[in-house]
Amino acid sequence: MPAGLSEISAGRGFVGRLETGSDLVEEIERFCTEHGVVAAQVTVIGAVRRAAYAYYEQHDRRYRELESRTHHEIVGFTGNISLRDDKPFLHAHATFADADGATVGGHLLRGCEVFAAEIMIREFTGVSLVRIHDDETGLALW
Ligand code: ZN
Repeated sequence: MPAGLSEISAGRGFVGRLETGSDLVEEIERFCTEHGVVAAQVTVIGAVRRAAYAYYEQHDRRYRELESRTHHEIVGFTGNISLRDDKPFLHAHATFADADGATVGGHLLRGCEVFAAEIMIREFTGVSLVRIHDDETGLALW
């Protein structure tokens, strides 16, 4: 099946910051649910007290969950919002840097505790982004 790209239009935009101690993934999904954002680009800059992320084992078709319990800067974050099980779902990958500048990262999981986080959400309209199970990869894809 060829990968197709859809033309989209810019919708609303939201900027702000998350509270210290909040869960990065949960708060973004909660905001999108409350504001009816079902397709969007999400970027974040800030720092976490604890990072939770995963690596997808392509052969085993399962996520290997990883965790860093020390303080990290969020030095990279790219994510999107689409619908999964009829609810706004955040798919994000992030890179975290420690006190020495060493980085870890991966597929973002719940459990990232925010120290400070500036969020930008750019909504898209004119597109229906729905995640469904993909047999070839074992992932829920558009
Ligand atoms: Zn991922």
